[in-house]
Amino acid sequence: MTLSTFQERLENSSGRKLKLKINDNRSTMLSVKWEPDGAKVSLHRIFLEAPKNVMDALACYLRQEDKIIGPAVKAYIEDNLKNLDYSHQLDRSKMYSQGHVYNLLKIYNTLNREYFSEKLNLHITWFGKPIQSGSSRVTFGLYYDQNRLIKINRLLDSPSFPDYFVSYVVYHEMLHHVCPSYFDHKGQHQIHSKEFKTKEVEFEHYDLAQTWVKENQASFFI
Ligand SMILES: [Zn+2]
Repeated sequence: MTLSTFQERLENSSGRKLKLKINDNRSTMLSVKWEPDGAKVSLHRIFLEAPKNVMDALACYLRQEDKIIGPAVKAYIEDNLKNLDYSHQLDRSKMYSQGHVYNLLKIYNTLNREYFSEKLNLHITWFGKPIQSGSSRVTFGLYYDQNRLIKINRLLDSPSFPDYFVSYVVYHEMLHHVCPSYFDHKGQHQIHSKEFKTKEVEFEHYDLAQTWVKENQASFFI
């Protein structure tokens, strides 16, 4: 759809004059500034292909009938974000997979072979400092789906963390790619969905890893 057709349709359905900008910035999927005679709207380019129900929900929001962004729009953004691959923007010089004790790429490659038929094409790096002090909670791993990037806390790069636990954390983050989060029919954000949890227990040392973390968590906070 051309931009002018898109604008015309959105103006007709929302009944508002729009100053429309289409962007390719994943942090501004949708932003609206209402003005007395219309609205300034910035939309991510994914909306150019949006189905009717999403466009209807968007029009409702622009008419200010809905005070919040509807679940259809949220779900559309969420789904499409997953297909956007921004990994080419990753700064490779800031990625480190070789640690002092563990090599994340090696762990990732083994898991990819054993559990995912080598189908995953993700990036992996350490983040943070080897010792965390003064914190009361710790994030072992993170997954950034737009960059297809797994980040593992450098705290784990230590002989006090068993290899099966480090593998488990990497496996968990890989699953975030395989079972992406979504908004359910109630508008609830499902991050660790049923499907995710079913797959998670398939990890060979799942029970061992769970037991180990329970028994050792006190020692993470120094
Ligand atoms: Zn998780």
